[in-house]
Amino acid sequence: MDHRGRTGGCRTTRRPPRPARAPTVLLLALLALAAGTACRRDAGTPARAPKLEAGFLAMGGIPIHVRAWDADPVAFAAAVDGFRVELERQESILSVHRAGSTLSRLNGAGGAAVPVAPDTLALLELAAECAAETGGAFDPTVGPLLAAWKEAARSGVEPTAERIAAARASVGMQRVHADDDGRSGGTVRLEPPTTLDLGGIAKGWFADLGLARLRAAGLRRGLVELGGDLSAYDDRPQPEPFRVGVRDPSRTDGFLGTLAIDGGSVVTSGDYERGYDVGGRHFNHIIDPRSGRPASGLRAVTLQAPTGARADALATAVMVLGERDGWAFLARTPDAGAVLVVGDPAAPDGLRIRVTPDLRERFEPDAARRASLDPSP
Ligand code: AMP
Ligand code: MG
Repeated sequence: MDHRGRTGGCRTTRRPPRPARAPTVLLLALLALAAGTACRRDAGTPARAPKLEAGFLAMGGIPIHVRAWDADPVAFAAAVDGFRVELERQESILSVHRAGSTLSRLNGAGGAAVPVAPDTLALLELAAECAAETGGAFDPTVGPLLAAWKEAARSGVEPTAERIAAARASVGMQRVHADDDGRSGGTVRLEPPTTLDLGGIAKGWFADLGLARLRAAGLRRGLVELGGDLSAYDDRPQPEPFRVGVRDPSRTDGFLGTLAIDGGSVVTSGDYERGYDVGGRHFNHIIDPRSGRPASGLRAVTLQAPTGARADALATAVMVLGERDGWAFLARTPDAGAVLVVGDPAAPDGLRIRVTPDLRERFEPDAARRASLDPSP
């Protein structure tokens, strides 16, 4: 999957990552006193709790940061190392840019059933659930439409209505057939010319895999950040919140504010950094499967949900749904909350920030962005 240049951000991890493919034992496994090393936003960290940190690059350059508190350094290093190896395995399964990956084989199978591992099947089932729940706004079969817009970026001409209609005909999760044998995985078959691209859910899911490793190693407070998407937990008797930066879509190095979360995941989808330039216009890399056109209206969505996979998929979906339908979707989805950044010419700097009621107390806008907060209920 193409994960390069993702949006989103966590204020707790501004340190540049070390080079990829470094020796197995941790690239950066430093035991530090939090007071000395935490960045200004990491206020949830207990003042003197020993913190362990690791950073590396994976999957073609995504910076990964892992943190744990009050933890045994040996157990931490082993958990992070296991996570790094796991990510390599996942890339070899899910990358649509690697010829031999499971997904590439599936996409090129011409309708034949392809064996898939149990965890890949579970991810696909989760993706299908998110697709159903969002009325198809999140849809991992959107690949042919992505291809049409990539082609447009190359030629400088928008796809014709016929081209879009032809691509749309192969989009829809009803064209994906999974056969779960309940033990060793199962098989998946795609109705040609349908293809699968899990780029809208995989990174959040990878963060969950990292957390699972930390928990399995007995670490009681942990955090995994993958290129801006973050999953965290605190199982200690007196947990403390994590403070996560919400990135400013108009300034790639800036933040709109801070979200305090007790655990779970925070994922950002946005229209910046990635996308298509066609004939001088910039288009979103997220495609609305219903119209076949790039999503528009929302500049960014920072979404909180219990798991990274769910947060990732729903953030992509809300970008597609736009302000009105995305807001309505969030209102009927009790385990998800979000900070919506709406492109609004009447708002300061053209940005209006709308926060769902469940996160209002938890979102602290930066002083310069206070005037951008939408006061409506
Ligand atoms: P994200 O950055 O998580 O919002 O994911 C964006 C990526 O998901 C894109 O680069 C595509 O690979 C894929 N994608 C684009 N549009 C959709 C969509 N409507 N549903 C699911 N995946 C999508
Ligand atoms: Mg996503």
